[in-house]
Amino acid sequence: MNTEQQMTAKAEALFHKGPAALTKEEVYATLLAFTKEALADAPKITGDKKLYYISAEFLIGKLLSNNLINLGIYNDAKAFVEQAGYTLPEIEEIEAEPSLGNGGLGRLAACFLDSIATLDLPGDGVGLNYHLGLFRQQFENHRQVEYPNPWISSETWENRTDVHFEVSFKDFTVTSSMYTIDVAGYNQKVNALNLFDLDSVDDSIVTDSINFDKEEIKKNLTLFLYPDDGDEAGRRLRVYQQYFMVSNAAQLILKEMDDKGYPIEELSQHVVVQINDTHPSMVIPELIRLLTARGMSFKAAVKQVENTCAYTNHTILAEALEKWPSQYLEDICPQLMPIIKQLDEIARTRSSNPATAIIDQDGRVHMAHMDIHFSQSTNGVAAIHTDILKNEELHDFYELYPERFNNKTNGVTFRRWLIACNPQLTAFLDRKIGDGWKQNADLLEEFESLKNDAGVQAQLQAIKQEKKNELSTYIYNHQNIVVNPDSIYDIQIKRLHEYKRQQMNALYIIDKYLRIKNGEIPARPITCIFGAKAAPAYLLAKDIISLILTLGDLIRNDPEVSPYLNVVMVENYNVTLAEKLIPAADVSEQISLASKEASGTSNMKFMLNGAVTLGTDDGANVEIHELVGDDNIFIFGVDSDTVINHYKNADYSSRQIYESDPVVKRTVDFITDPAMMAIGDPEALTRVKNDMINKDWFMALLDLHAYIDEKDKCFAAYEDRQAWAEKMIVNISKAGYFSSDRTIAQYNQDIWHLK
Ligand SMILES: *Cc1c(COP(=O)(O)O)cnc(C)c1O
Repeated sequence: MNTEQQMTAKAEALFHKGPAALTKEEVYATLLAFTKEALADAPKITGDKKLYYISAEFLIGKLLSNNLINLGIYNDAKAFVEQAGYTLPEIEEIEAEPSLGNGGLGRLAACFLDSIATLDLPGDGVGLNYHLGLFRQQFENHRQVEYPNPWISSETWENRTDVHFEVSFKDFTVTSSMYTIDVAGYNQKVNALNLFDLDSVDDSIVTDSINFDKEEIKKNLTLFLYPDDGDEAGRRLRVYQQYFMVSNAAQLILKEMDDKGYPIEELSQHVVVQINDTHPSMVIPELIRLLTARGMSFKAAVKQVENTCAYTNHTILAEALEKWPSQYLEDICPQLMPIIKQLDEIARTRSSNPATAIIDQDGRVHMAHMDIHFSQSTNGVAAIHTDILKNEELHDFYELYPERFNNKTNGVTFRRWLIACNPQLTAFLDRKIGDGWKQNADLLEEFESLKNDAGVQAQLQAIKQEKKNELSTYIYNHQNIVVNPDSIYDIQIKRLHEYKRQQMNALYIIDKYLRIKNGEIPARPITCIFGAKAAPAYLLAKDIISLILTLGDLIRNDPEVSPYLNVVMVENYNVTLAEKLIPAADVSEQISLASKEASGTSNMKFMLNGAVTLGTDDGANVEIHELVGDDNIFIFGVDSDTVINHYKNADYSSRQIYESDPVVKRTVDFITDPAMMAIGDPEALTRVKNDMINKDWFMALLDLHAYIDEKDKCFAAYEDRQAWAEKMIVNISKAGYFSSDRTIAQYNQDIWHLK
């Protein structure tokens, strides 16, 4: 029997009917069951040293297509689905997207698992099995409203295991349960994503929206990803979650050492732990605790753990460098405090600089400091970010441990971000340059030699048009908004954060609106597309969503402007939506304030799909800029040194710019124009405007002029269709560097040494 016939037989066994009679749900259930069995039968990746990638987030997205591709049975599944009278995209609609992450950091962890397995490296993910994960976003009255997002159903990729551990908190002990999701590499071998949960967690304690009793730990521990930390109970719940995660991780590591017969004295020879941001930092004292409990001396345990762990820094935003009051730890996991105090003492013997202490004078535990002192490696996630860590944010640590600092520029898996989401472009590349790039992404460079080929240009543009049409249909079907497929698609999709500056994009739109009103008609209609969730407690971010939604409505209802300008915010931005939006983009908006975006990864996904970047020299944009050259990217804005100096000197005044620059003034003032106030939420609009004039912490007004000018230059360049096609080709051909296979090979070479 060939694979397609085996799928048909599976359907017969499950539903007692032939393919033609199957419902969509039955087709999905058949493929899920078939693929899970294939995964279970696939060889496990083994070796005598194993990586544990611990992360609070794994934004894995839907898994069906990815698994079919990596198992090499995508075409068989396609044939089976078509035999039943459906298409694969229709069947994928049935799958719920696991909401186990917020944004870039969680998506990175997911891309990494794919590449680790693809490179045949033994490495499992370890995290938490959030029942409701990140909230589902809905727009109501031009506001974001949050709803629970249950994703675990009877038809799931998860397998319950018989692995359980006891985790002791101060006042009670719980027993965990481990669930596993198989992670197939492109070589068809598998690693695992291990997600820990508590059987007593009770989804029914959620009252309205995403509110619940934060004190009932046994019922709420793994309910949500990052419970709102706007109040103390929320912050404590995060510590409960983190300790639960790392205690399970540490116990799993030692159990697997035991199972393989390795003595704990050889921990660092057989295990490497990658700490993804500071959420899993307590794994350091927890491992030391467990090793000493087994009789190892404290000194030897510290040495083993220091040699085993490695830490990735993801941000220089102070709010994200976690510092927990030691009282929280005393109240939640008191067994760690004596160890953390001893680690603090050791750190103080290594440096007398109070800025590098683990416990500060206010009794707060600095997680990142513990990571840097007690691990082998601290890495940033793009060249500029690592430089800023070394020279500014973590300079004192860099002087102490220069050899521990290293850069690992992020990457994305091309299996999901090209092969799965853009089969048309994939097939075209296969025809033009062969399919070797699927194993070795650098081979995409061969595409560049075709950049002047008119036929190649036309076909590439036809594929882009097809993806734009598909997106237009999707947006119409889901949000009842008409998007003109002949317009330029200018797309900014990422978490809503002031530093990412969606508000600056909104100001561009206001300026354009006012110019169109004034008779300055653009050469071609423009569609500005946003997708973003705001953290539920982040009021200003929600206000910016409100501004964008209001602008969209105002413009669509203005017959003078709507033929030329459209503003769409897609609801509930997630991985599934990203896979539809990115292949359809003409312009990739990457406009963070220089120095603030550690890397960004959507910039890489866009480039790979032939979008041209409009951005600041920030994060990985800097490396994209170097690779594609000045002619194939649009860069604007003040540089990171200027920004860093403004913060040092505290000399930035947005009010000064607002008062002295009439263009800035009229755009900012328009936020509360009576026409806007009549449609939108007046309080939200007023808050955004006041913040921009009085604070503007991320300097949107500073770069506004340069942004408007560069964006208009970019749209003008789009009109030279041939030159634009060349830019698309150069971007695609230089994207190979941003394969997460390259990133993971570097982690392995420099830090993990697995094989
Ligand atoms: C890639 C990705 C991100 C990261 O986007 P940035 O623009 O790099 O912040 C966030 N969310 C989703 C769903 C993604 O796929």
